[in-house]
Amino acid sequence: MDPIVIIGSGLAGYNTAREFRKLDKETPLVIITAHSGHFYSKPTLSNALAQGKTPETIPISTPEQMRTQVNAEVRARTHVTAIEPQHHRIRVGNETVPYSKLVLAWGADPIRLTPAGDAADAVLSVNNLDDYARFRAALESAKRVVILGAGLIGCEFANDLAAKGFKVNVVDLAAQPLPRLLPPAGGALLAAKLSALGIDWHFNTSVTRVDHGDGGLRVLLSDGTALEADVVLSAIGLRPHTALAQAAGITVNRGIAVDRQLATSAPDVFALGDCAEVDGLILPFVMPIAHAARALGATLAGTPTPLRYPAMPVLVKTPACPTIVAPPLNGAAGEWQITETDGGVKALYVDGDNQLLGFALSGSATAERAALVARLPAVLP
Ligand code: FAD
Repeated sequence: MDPIVIIGSGLAGYNTAREFRKLDKETPLVIITAHSGHFYSKPTLSNALAQGKTPETIPISTPEQMRTQVNAEVRARTHVTAIEPQHHRIRVGNETVPYSKLVLAWGADPIRLTPAGDAADAVLSVNNLDDYARFRAALESAKRVVILGAGLIGCEFANDLAAKGFKVNVVDLAAQPLPRLLPPAGGALLAAKLSALGIDWHFNTSVTRVDHGDGGLRVLLSDGTALEADVVLSAIGLRPHTALAQAAGITVNRGIAVDRQLATSAPDVFALGDCAEVDGLILPFVMPIAHAARALGATLAGTPTPLRYPAMPVLVKTPACPTIVAPPLNGAAGEWQITETDGGVKALYVDGDNQLLGFALSGSATAERAALVARLPAVLP
């Protein structure tokens, strides 16, 4: 019998393997990953300094331990180059690997900026452990970091670095941090709290050049500002990894399109995690992956199980300003109701019937999280 093949050893791939093995101990399972195959929690990467963790201590399990834990062949540092759904097989260069069922859990790729300048290729991004090891090596001789992007990952790295004494500048095209997650009042509180840590913001602008300068890098912004840096970190977003699926004729929208059973348009091919678009939703976070892995594990084990998402707020790891967001779904009609208190902003997104559709809590308002989550509708009922 051909094995079930999972491509990807991130939270989506390994969690699916774990959930499947709870229900099926026998069916051969192969996990193929372009990376080392260590199991780690990716969210740790943006607060590892505060936690005193290094690239060596972040992994929770080695590939060997995972092999035993999920009773699977784990093929590390192995790059899948094509999928051939009509033949139920994938390609690793010239080698073909047959599958009975295939799970695409191959994540997303950082969006790359293309500034001019002789040091444009020195701009780093962090989306896996290897990237993080490179980043930490660069930090060893660094004091000044410029972060491109004031979204969730940019703000978390900014907080982590500034709290450890790095001089941090953050650049964003938007007028505030977390522009897609926080209304302006919440953004203003987060910006102020992070400013108090010594972070300087450069809003409504973007990077145009990165050059080698005197003893470091020189970052030129479109508003004419020049910033000196030792390290430039790009955190402007991720794009679901879709190219190989598209090349195989699988339906792709913004992500790999899957239904509520995580099935793609190709028979016996499933997708979840950062690469997948479930019922039109791309939710590149840990909680949606945990729910998807549980449903897919059961489906792979023979019990077709539709995915359900409860309300899933995201905790932003900025200890200088605790922040929790439950963004309203794309296009949900409603308006923000803002209450500002001493040290907190409560922003509720409500529809015309006063039904709560989302929230953004900052500072002391995060204490209301549990009560508000209970009032939110399920994301996928
Ligand atoms: P990935 O972890 O990217 O795994 C993709 C896997 O696919 C890798 O093993 C890779 O080697 C493999 N792969 C790719 N292409 C190939 C190929 N061609 N052949 C073989 N293998 C391939 N979410 C939260 O909810 N809360 C947080 O606080 C939070 N913090 C974050 C902090 C950072 C710095 C980052 C980057 C993300 C954070 N996230 C957070 C998001 C969350 O971590 C991701 O949604 C999640 O880890 C994605 O898991 P994944 O398995 O889908 O993808």
